[in-house]
Amino acid sequence: ESPVYYDDDANRDYIDDKTVAVLGYGSQGHAHAQNLADSGVDVIVGLREDSSSWGAAEDDGLRVATPVEAAAEADVVSMLVPDTVQPDVFEDVREELDAGDTLQFAHGFNIHYNQIQPPEDVDVTMIAPKSPGHLVRRNYENGEGTPGLLAVYQDATGDAKAEALAYAHAIGCTDAGVVETSFREETETDLFGEQAVLCGGISALVKAGYETLVDAGYSREMAYFECLNEMKLIVDLMYEGGIGAMWDSVSDTAEYGGLTRGDDVVDDAVRERMDEILEGVQDGTFAREWIAENQAGRPSYTQLRTAEKNHDIEAVGEDLRGLFAWDDGTESEEQEAEEA
Ligand code: NDP
Ligand code: MG
Ligand code: MG
Repeated sequence: ESPVYYDDDANRDYIDDKTVAVLGYGSQGHAHAQNLADSGVDVIVGLREDSSSWGAAEDDGLRVATPVEAAAEADVVSMLVPDTVQPDVFEDVREELDAGDTLQFAHGFNIHYNQIQPPEDVDVTMIAPKSPGHLVRRNYENGEGTPGLLAVYQDATGDAKAEALAYAHAIGCTDAGVVETSFREETETDLFGEQAVLCGGISALVKAGYETLVDAGYSREMAYFECLNEMKLIVDLMYEGGIGAMWDSVSDTAEYGGLTRGDDVVDDAVRERMDEILEGVQDGTFAREWIAENQAGRPSYTQLRTAEKNHDIEAVGEDLRGLFAWDDGTESEEQEAEEA
């Protein structure tokens, strides 16, 4: 059982008098920086001189400097630039990490796969909100919390966990609950989940179902609604009440058909390939591949992205989403950006 921590478990004394350098002002960076600042913590955002985010951070009332200047001032350096650029940014700021400072992450990839090797006299911790950054900010503003993960990789001061909990409190995570894990567990489960189930698994399932119907002569619109659009309704039910709430809500016909056919789709062969994907995560094969792909300038990634964009389901979807007004009470980030 992983322990879960709430507001009462956090002692804000561990962060309130410190200066936190938030490196990066993207999805997570803007949320951590603004939440910390609104919680009364001294924040300095670290960005490269030609950064497109510089103006946004200043407009939000934050101090901005280069990553090196920000880290030099800070007691806690929160590494919130993209994972692929973190090793370079770390090399720039490593001299500014004094004994007893903290290097703080929102994902364990670079520590777990040894792309960043921090000095031995600093604390290395993780507070990983389980949510996109704009929700971390919105939940904080609404007085709600965002669930998160906590991990300590290196405890040089003896206070690493207490300080991480205080940081989690200041960005609103202990309000919802923070689960303790390790850098290894967070990294491996995160990569496996996004590859096999969430991003990779679900999009491949949707496309395979769509292609099956279209190849059999059904209309592209019907195939889109059935295999993609309705996915959200089903997932919402699972999110609210588990798989059982979904079975309760669908018709008996859908329940019987699903219970008898689902395992034929995700059969033992799929389970074996899931094991292989997990092994590739555990033994570092995936990490080495991804690092090499980036070093080579992302040739396969670019190709795959283009092919995915050109899939027929995307064209149908764009037309249909334009024809129908969806009013499910939620807004896409795009809509929000347009309104802002
Ligand atoms: P983003 O891609 O949103 O970060 C973009 C920010 O990083 C911008 O401010 C950008 O500024 C800056 N940046 C990019 N390249 C550099 C560079 N070379 N030097 C300095 N600054 C740079 O990152 P995320 O918020 O998505 O991810 C940050 C961390 O949070 C990662 O470890 C990620 O795994 C983790 N995480 C992310 C989640 C999410 O919701 N996205 C959820 C949970 C964890 P500019 O390019 O303008 O200079
Ligand atoms: Mg320092
Ligand atoms: Mg992930």
